[in-house]
Amino acid sequence: MSFLDDVAVMLGRAPRKAKRHTDAAEIAHGRKRGKGLEVTRLLEVLAAAPKSHTWRNRRWAVLISVNLLFVFSFWLDIQVLEGSLTASRFLGFHLADVYSSGLIMLSEKHVAVNLVIGSATVLLLWGLIGGRSFCSWACIYHLVAEWAESLHLKLAAAGIVSDHVLHRGIRSLLWVLFAALAFATGQALFLTLNPIGILSRALIYGPSLALGWVLLLLAFEVVYSRRAWCCYLCPIGLTYGVLGAATPVRVRYNLERCAHEGECRKVCEVPHVLEMTIKGRAPDTRVDVGPDCTRCGLCVDACPTRSLEFEVKGLSRLL
Ligand code: SF4
Ligand code: SF4
Repeated sequence: MSFLDDVAVMLGRAPRKAKRHTDAAEIAHGRKRGKGLEVTRLLEVLAAAPKSHTWRNRRWAVLISVNLLFVFSFWLDIQVLEGSLTASRFLGFHLADVYSSGLIMLSEKHVAVNLVIGSATVLLLWGLIGGRSFCSWACIYHLVAEWAESLHLKLAAAGIVSDHVLHRGIRSLLWVLFAALAFATGQALFLTLNPIGILSRALIYGPSLALGWVLLLLAFEVVYSRRAWCCYLCPIGLTYGVLGAATPVRVRYNLERCAHEGECRKVCEVPHVLEMTIKGRAPDTRVDVGPDCTRCGLCVDACPTRSLEFEVKGLSRLL
């Protein structure tokens, strides 16, 4: 897919089948036709191997450390990472969430130099290390939503709840709506509803009544729609996805190794980015996963044939 296609899919368009495959991809697809039994046998062998949680564990360690650094900086007054995930200072350098900063400036109709510097630093950081990597490697809501997702999956397996897929375009509409509201009313309403800011501040400064809203959101995800906030609603995730669309840090797909059984799509919170893993879809033998990918690594851990791996464009494969 082209860069513009990738962005259109992020904004809510359904992924389209590739119009043409490269010659190498055609050969690889051709080789796989009629090999169902062989693949089943291969997967039986691979399924016996212990499941890996390597990337999930690395990610949780980083995410928890970042958020605890906020807590200890405040409690011990050591001024390493001050503030919260919405706006902070790391060793004196301003960091500010890009979308939230934009809303504040729109509502105040004033360009605040600190917010511009903080947003530019964050933009550079996440532009380099992977757009929505913010979501799965730093965002505290992502972590609690993963735990809520486990509960949702257990209840769904028991037939108590079922998942309802919403339209991803809702996220783009909310993005525009909150921006327009901030400009028109002079109030950044989103900041009141933003579960990332609410949870981050609760962790650092203590709980508030706003936590009730976060619990409601999580309950909605458990009983009605798996990972609804991160998949269909969060304008912050959308912002980092679009701004990081050209980032060099990617998950890369290898068609030749793939068995097409779909373990990756089962664990992915944004499975539309893994459409190329469906038999016959990949346009090339190597395909970069699209910018809505949070680089969580769950598919890398789950894939029994190592068909999905982290890569930094221009550098060797990550371990
Ligand atoms: S990429 Fe997905 S479908 Fe292909 S082998 Fe890996 S888990 Fe299975
Ligand atoms: S494609 Fe893989 S790394 Fe990206 S969000 Fe889905 S599971 Fe995570």
